[in-house]
Amino acid sequence: MSATVTEKGPMAGIRLLDRDKLNACVQCGMCLASCPTYRELGVEMDSPRGRIYLMTLVQEGRLEPDGLFARHMSQCLGCRACETVCPTGVPFGSLVDAAKAVIEQNRRLPLMTRFVRNLAFRHLLPHQARLRLLGVLLRRMERLGLFALAKRVVSGRLREALQLLPDLSAPPFGPGDVAATASVGARRGRVALFWGCVAPVLLPNVQQATVAVLRAYGYEVVVPEGQTCCGALHLHNGLRADAQALARKNLAAFDSTGYDAIIVNAAGCGAALKTYQELLRGTAEEGCAHRFHAQVNDLTEFLAPLTAPPQSAALKETVTYQDPCHLAHGQRIRSAPRQLLKAIPGLEFKEMPDAERCCGSAGIYNLLHPELSRRLRQEKIDHATASGARVIVTANPGCQLYLQAGIREKQLDVEVRHLAELLVRVYATRPGG
Ligand code: SF4
Ligand code: SF4
Repeated sequence: MSATVTEKGPMAGIRLLDRDKLNACVQCGMCLASCPTYRELGVEMDSPRGRIYLMTLVQEGRLEPDGLFARHMSQCLGCRACETVCPTGVPFGSLVDAAKAVIEQNRRLPLMTRFVRNLAFRHLLPHQARLRLLGVLLRRMERLGLFALAKRVVSGRLREALQLLPDLSAPPFGPGDVAATASVGARRGRVALFWGCVAPVLLPNVQQATVAVLRAYGYEVVVPEGQTCCGALHLHNGLRADAQALARKNLAAFDSTGYDAIIVNAAGCGAALKTYQELLRGTAEEGCAHRFHAQVNDLTEFLAPLTAPPQSAALKETVTYQDPCHLAHGQRIRSAPRQLLKAIPGLEFKEMPDAERCCGSAGIYNLLHPELSRRLRQEKIDHATASGARVIVTANPGCQLYLQAGIREKQLDVEVRHLAELLVRVYATRPGG
């Protein structure tokens, strides 16, 4: 496998586009209505079927993997809604990741783009200590009012990125800051927590809440050292070899049989962790990746079948739920989060229309294609608010940050919360307790 991702020369990496997977598409068009980019742009080449056709041309050597091909692949959100409706089970997510790896190996990016990408993907995301330092720096800048100033003077992607920053009043949180890890009440077992990369810095409350909820449910929580970014952003942006290196690090960090499960509270990370065996197919780590897969659980799928702990507080809220794409389409987890919400006494659950449609966040898509991304976000916010709910619940930090930014922009009286933040209010007395 690694040989295919380091090829050089014209049409490098083309073997990553698996002919059998491409041939599974029977061109029936059942995926068209579910595809957000086709719906918004109305262009066949921005539909799953159209993209598969382009991939087939590239795979057969009849189209160069640049220009038009790169544009239509880049415009794909990677939301995998097409997989949910496809009658022949085309694994579109892995095909589009392969297409992006092929593009990556056949193009030379401008110097500045390469610099920014290297900085973000190679020198920041895999390094928790550096991310925390950045978090501290961002906090200071916010206190000095520098963001408010910057938002007025900068434009383009930098402005979009600044708009995403949440309230940074809470300090960044690292695995070493977990105050207590022992179970509360009757002990059910021991779980390992996957920590992620930017979420602990930008949403420290979510990490604290996750630990507290697991403890309240009777689990001792271990945060293994040496774990790193899941590699999803790298994989979805064509940096396959980097994603493989990160996967290997995580397999080593979680190489223990001492846990009942490995818990992830970010849908995008969970979907990536659950496909390590595909990412490392044909390598020495493939077997280890299969064992790892068997242990990885999204927080919601892990908690839903369990008897909830005694309630410590009431929660009188009207709540709706937005399905993160990589939970609903990527991991096929839809009922567990709803089950957990509906079981909360006092909570009124309101289903929103098209809850499974992408909110437009999609990793760094909101920075690469801000206009389309904003259209999708607005549609999601309209649907959520029309439901009458005051709290939008999600299970993915990326969606949470993006929706929060949209709500702030429109100055709506609506909260966007991670499910763990609601559960902690009901079942745990205090996050660190
Ligand atoms: S639904 Fe599946 S088989 Fe049909 S066109 Fe779309 S990708 Fe191809
Ligand atoms: S992954 Fe999403 S955006 Fe991309 S083709 Fe499938 S449905 Fe469309």
